[in-house]
Amino acid sequence: MHAVRCNGQPPRGITMRMAPPNLPTKVCATCGRTFAWRKKWARQWAEVAHCSDRCRSRRNRKEKTELETRILILLAQRARGATICPSEVLPDEEKQDAERMDSVRAAARRLAHDATIDILQRGVVVDPDGARGPIRLRLR
Ligand SMILES: [Zn+2]
Repeated sequence: MHAVRCNGQPPRGITMRMAPPNLPTKVCATCGRTFAWRKKWARQWAEVAHCSDRCRSRRNRKEKTELETRILILLAQRARGATICPSEVLPDEEKQDAERMDSVRAAARRLAHDATIDILQRGVVVDPDGARGPIRLRLR
């Protein structure tokens, strides 16, 4: 296991997404990020749905489906091929709430992994797990 530096970044030369090759992966049902098999899950890998205890503890949050639905409704109201900014999903008073914005981005990642939407940066479709900085969402 590589230590994470205090700035939240992995050690130099190691990317967050680097996992030993050939290990099975899944998409976390809460944060929407891909995670790899771990030895501690050897016996129950088929049932594992979350990357961490934090994500598992948030599995039943009502906001998960609520935010996915809001993203899809907003996109359905736009012209075909149009994009939205994730913050458009939130009411004005929540747009500065970092945790709420994280929840919207997680909902977008889940939808992107389900192949329902694309996540774009600078007009290019990006890997949902790797997007840092501003993103836009588009129905696939
Ligand atoms: Zn997760």
